[in-house]
Amino acid sequence: MTTPNAVLSNLGAIDAAHHIHPFSDMKKLNAAGTRIIQRGEGSHIFDNHGKKYLDAFAGLWCVNIGYGRREIADAVFAQMNELPYYNCFFGTTTPPTTLLAEKIVAHAGPNINHVFFTNSGSEATDTWFRMARVYWAHLGKPTKTMVIGRRNGYHGSTVAGASLGGMKYMHEQGALPIEGIHHIGQPYWYAEGGDLTPAEFGLKVARELEAKIDELGEDNVAAFVAEPIQGAGGVIVPPETYWPEIKRICAARNILLVADEVICGFGRTGSWFGHQHFGFEPDLAPVAKGLSSGYLPVGGVLVSDRVAKVITSTDFNHGYTYSGHPVCAVAAIENLRILEEEKLVERVRDDIGPYFAKSWSSLLDHDMIGEAQSVGLMGGLQMAFDKKTRQRFEKPDDVGTWVRNKCIEAGLIMRATGDRMLASPPLIITHEEVDFMTSTLRTALDAAWKELK
Ligand code: PMP
Repeated sequence: MTTPNAVLSNLGAIDAAHHIHPFSDMKKLNAAGTRIIQRGEGSHIFDNHGKKYLDAFAGLWCVNIGYGRREIADAVFAQMNELPYYNCFFGTTTPPTTLLAEKIVAHAGPNINHVFFTNSGSEATDTWFRMARVYWAHLGKPTKTMVIGRRNGYHGSTVAGASLGGMKYMHEQGALPIEGIHHIGQPYWYAEGGDLTPAEFGLKVARELEAKIDELGEDNVAAFVAEPIQGAGGVIVPPETYWPEIKRICAARNILLVADEVICGFGRTGSWFGHQHFGFEPDLAPVAKGLSSGYLPVGGVLVSDRVAKVITSTDFNHGYTYSGHPVCAVAAIENLRILEEEKLVERVRDDIGPYFAKSWSSLLDHDMIGEAQSVGLMGGLQMAFDKKTRQRFEKPDDVGTWVRNKCIEAGLIMRATGDRMLASPPLIITHEEVDFMTSTLRTALDAAWKELK
C-alpha cells in the first residue's frame, strides 16, 4: 500500500492513539516514538525517512528468503483471483493446501508424512498439545496428559503456548501456567553450568527430564517439548550431550518428543529442520515463520507416522477457519521452491553459515564477550562483566537494550535477550553484509564497554 505523505507524517501519532503493540510497554514506546518500516529489499529494510537497515534478524526470525520476492507476490495475486479462500472442513481441500503438505514432508525424515495446518506458531503449539492428549487417550492411556517444557523456552502467546513456554514474565500475567504443564531447566551452560564442563552440564539438565517424569509418574506424562536451539530465550545452543540424552529418556519412558521448529525449521540451522542438525526425529514438530518466510501467516504441525496412525483413525475435533488457507499455501509453496532452487539450505550449511560463524566468533576477543554460539545463521553472543569468571552485568536487560539501540542507530537490526545479542539474518545475506553486521556490532560493544564498565 502506498500511504499518502500527509498521513505518513502523522502515523506516529495515529499509532500512539490506536495501536497496542505486542510485548510492549506502550507508555515507554509512545514516549520514545515507534519506528515505521515502509519497504524491504533483499536483507534490508527502509523506514519512512528512507533510512536503510541491515535486518540481521529477518523480521522476527522468519524472512528466510529475504524481502521483495516478486515471485511470491505474483503467485499470491494469481491465487487470489482464482480462489481467495476455501476451507478444509467437511471433506474438502484446495490444490495448494494439499500440494504444500506434500512439499513439506518431502524435506522431513522418512517417518514424518503428515501435516496439520495452522496460521501461526502459537496455534501450532495448541494443536500438538491437544493432539498429544488425544493420541494417548485413544491408546487407552487417558491419564497421560501432562506436558513438560523448559524454563526460558518459548512456544507462543496463546494460553497453552505461554504456559508451555518457560518465560516467568509471561506466567506472571493471567495465572499461568495452566494445570498439567511443568518445566525443567534449560541447557544454558554459560549462565547456569557452574563448574561443570558443557558436556557434563548437558547431561545433567537432560536428566532433569527423567527426574520430572519420576516425580509426575510416567503414566501421567504425555510429552516433552523443546526448541532444538532455544531462540527467544537467547539462542542457547545446547551442549552436544544434551539431545542424545533427551532422545534416550523420551524413548525409555514412552513419552512423545516434540521439537518446536518454528524458528529452526526451513534452513536456519543449515538443515531443513533443527532436529536433523542434532540427529533425532521428533514425534510432533510445530512449524511456522520460515515456512512462508513470513510473506503470509501460515504454520502447521508435522506429525510422525506413530502419531498420525492414531490421529487419522479417529475424529480430531480441532481446526481453524484458515487451516490450509489456499493463498497462504501458495506463498509457502513458492517460498519452498525458492529455498530448493537457490539451494539456500545448502548455502547455509556450506558457505554463509561457516562464514557467519567465523565472523561472529571473531568478537570473542572483545573484553565484553564471553561466548559466541552459532549454528547455521542463528547466533547468540553472551556479554559479560568479567569474562574470566563468567560474571554477568548487574542489569542484563539494560546492557542488551543499550547495545541493540546503538546497533539500530548505526543501521543494523539485531535483538537482545537480557545480556545476549541475537542474530538470525535472511539466508541470502551476503559475506559483505555479514562483515557489516560484525563490525557495526563491535563498534556498539566498544561504546558500551566504555559507557557501562
Ligand atoms: N515457537 C517458537 C520457538 C517461537 O519462536 C515462536 C515465535 N517467536 C512461536 C512458537 C510462536 O509463533 P507465533 O508468533 O507465530 O505464534
